[in-house]
Amino acid sequence: MADVLVVGAGPVGLALAADLRVRGVDVAIVERRTGLDAGTRAIGIHSPSLAHLEASGATDALLARAVRIGRGEARADGRTLATIRFDRLRARHPFVAALPQSDTVDVLTELAPAVSRGVRVTAVREDGAGVRVQAVGPTGEVDLRAGIVVVASGWAGRELVYRPGAVHTHHYSDRYAMVDVAAPGDATALVHLERGGVVESFPLPGGRRRLVAWAGKADVPDAAEFLRAALADRVGLDVDTSTASTFRVRRAVAPALRRGRVIVVGDAAHEVSPIGGQGMNLGLLDALTLSPLLAEWVRGTEPRRLAAWEQGRLASVRHAARLAFLNTMLGRGASAPGHATRSVALRTVLRGPGAAAFTRAYAMDFDAAARGG
Ligand SMILES: Cc1cc2nc3c(=O)[nH]c(=O)nc-3n(C[C@H](O)[C@H](O)[C@H](O)COP(=O)(O)OP(=O)(O)OC[C@H]3O[C@@H](n4cnc5c(N)ncnc54)[C@H](O)[C@@H]3O)c2cc1C
Repeated sequence: MADVLVVGAGPVGLALAADLRVRGVDVAIVERRTGLDAGTRAIGIHSPSLAHLEASGATDALLARAVRIGRGEARADGRTLATIRFDRLRARHPFVAALPQSDTVDVLTELAPAVSRGVRVTAVREDGAGVRVQAVGPTGEVDLRAGIVVVASGWAGRELVYRPGAVHTHHYSDRYAMVDVAAPGDATALVHLERGGVVESFPLPGGRRRLVAWAGKADVPDAAEFLRAALADRVGLDVDTSTASTFRVRRAVAPALRRGRVIVVGDAAHEVSPIGGQGMNLGLLDALTLSPLLAEWVRGTEPRRLAAWEQGRLASVRHAARLAFLNTMLGRGASAPGHATRSVALRTVLRGPGAAAFTRAYAMDFDAAARGG
């Protein structure tokens, strides 16, 4: 029986398992997929997450693969509305590290204990001084036990811990089209707030960029053609969009992260709109601030600080969800007068101290764990 069993080998579960491992905790990790997830989602790792990932040795390995984004610009109609200077943050890592989520998962997989793959957890129950976990593995049903179970299963495994409807979920009506592709540009993150809707352009390693465009509120039948036209019309960009995909966004915040010896972290407990790019970072901070408490618990008594941890994490998630909501609203298409008003308002608000507050919000300075990192 492991002291801690982690369910789910996404970035959050792996980061937790890797951190617990260096703290000398007997930790096991199971994953329903048989191979690595090659899908591309999160690309930005913020300064506080980088600081907390240092203990496991992940930060250096991630930075060796990443582009460092030191500044960002909000633009409209070819003019700069505001500049965000991550490079002026008073932080150990004054930049956003950008790399594909599959690379992040690769790095963390190297540092975590070996993942038991092809094991789908079907039930998690507290049972005396431990937790009983039922699963289906490659050879059939298996019964596992652990002192503490951390569910890091993403939204797909939410029903393992929450009753249906317990996690209030808002489905935004917005659709987005996205592609990761070779494109011109430097290490500046660009957010074009155009009349037809937002276009985001974020640097990736190898001369590539993540390009995202707001696609309205109806399904997009041809993502490649839509994105090609949107990039050309809104920002005059001509790139190969043949591998474009679309995504929709949700906001979900669980009422609690813990019942007894079962704890939930990452997307299993909360999702925020990716427009703002903080979802994975919230999960990493859940995991990496929980890890020292779990290490203390397995060696002695349950730490009293667990209650404060839970409240602090939920407060950060709610804050990030509000910020993501604001981003989503600002990124929608607008009428000509609405667009003009939005541009003037943003230029006014984001001048001087407004820009500094905006930078801190994007760098997750609202997160108490972030400030401690
Ligand atoms: C388009 C897009 C762009 C994004 N960009 C950003 C960004 O730039 N920055 C950012 O911070 N976030 C971003 N996000 C959000 C980010 O991708 C997620 O927050 C992150 O993947 C959550 O990690 P996780 O480990 O909690 O969950 P997941 O990545 O979902 O991993 C959960 C793992 O658990 C496994 N699992 C599920 N159920 C079971 C079970 N029953 N038994 C065993 N294993 C199970 C799954 O197979 C999976 O491997 C983006 C999301 C999208 C959709």
